[in-house]
Amino acid sequence: MKQIKIAIDGPASSGKSTVAKILAEKLRYTYLDTGAMYRSVTYLTLKEGLSEGMVEEILATLDQHPISFKRSSQDQQLVFVGDEDVTDAIRQNDVTQNVSWVAAIPEVRERLVEMQREIASKGGIIMDGRDIGTVVLPDAELKIFLVASVEERAQRRFKENQEKGIPSDLEAIKTSIEERDYKDSHRETSPLKPAEDAILFDTTGVSIEGVTDFILEKAKEILDKP
Ligand code: C5P
Repeated sequence: MKQIKIAIDGPASSGKSTVAKILAEKLRYTYLDTGAMYRSVTYLTLKEGLSEGMVEEILATLDQHPISFKRSSQDQQLVFVGDEDVTDAIRQNDVTQNVSWVAAIPEVRERLVEMQREIASKGGIIMDGRDIGTVVLPDAELKIFLVASVEERAQRRFKENQEKGIPSDLEAIKTSIEERDYKDSHRETSPLKPAEDAILFDTTGVSIEGVTDFILEKAKEILDKP
């Protein structure tokens, strides 16, 4: 059966990963959370006490602790650096607050993009991130760019954090989302922006089901084309 590549980009907490995971299950495609990869490099960078400018050292620690994805017995996707499970650690505030500067390092992006393309070459893929439609998979058959109001995104992240037991403050989340979006959109290498051929979708007030149905419909249109 025909398989396609689906790129889902958008700002922080726009619902990309929730939607991408559901779509991957429905289509039986591989799901790749590229944000988790940038978060993993950030985790290693902080753990080693490295700072901006220490690019060689950051790449060296990534070499020593390669990123991998595994499935838990409850069928959850787990993220590892070397043999350390960092699934929860990469969602903590210190990583979130530092990920934008680590992700702005061109050499780090080069490494991760190479891995992302390698994973995508193996078949049907849904990848979410900031530069998937523009840089990682410019030939993706379906490109979606999700947006939502900052208020709604902050509310979603706040709820998510509560469920995971991560202490948080709504106003602080809002500020952090705005700062991260600004940095991600204004960096020199692969800034956050929609690809020219991306479909823009505003998810403010739209249910997860509403978003997944919309994307699934678009995917089916492409898959059904002779
Ligand atoms: O998607 P998530 O919020 O987990 O991404 C964390 C950070 O990783 C983003 O704020 C951005 O700095 C970086 N990122 C990126 N390119 C991607 C995915 C994530 O620069 N493709």
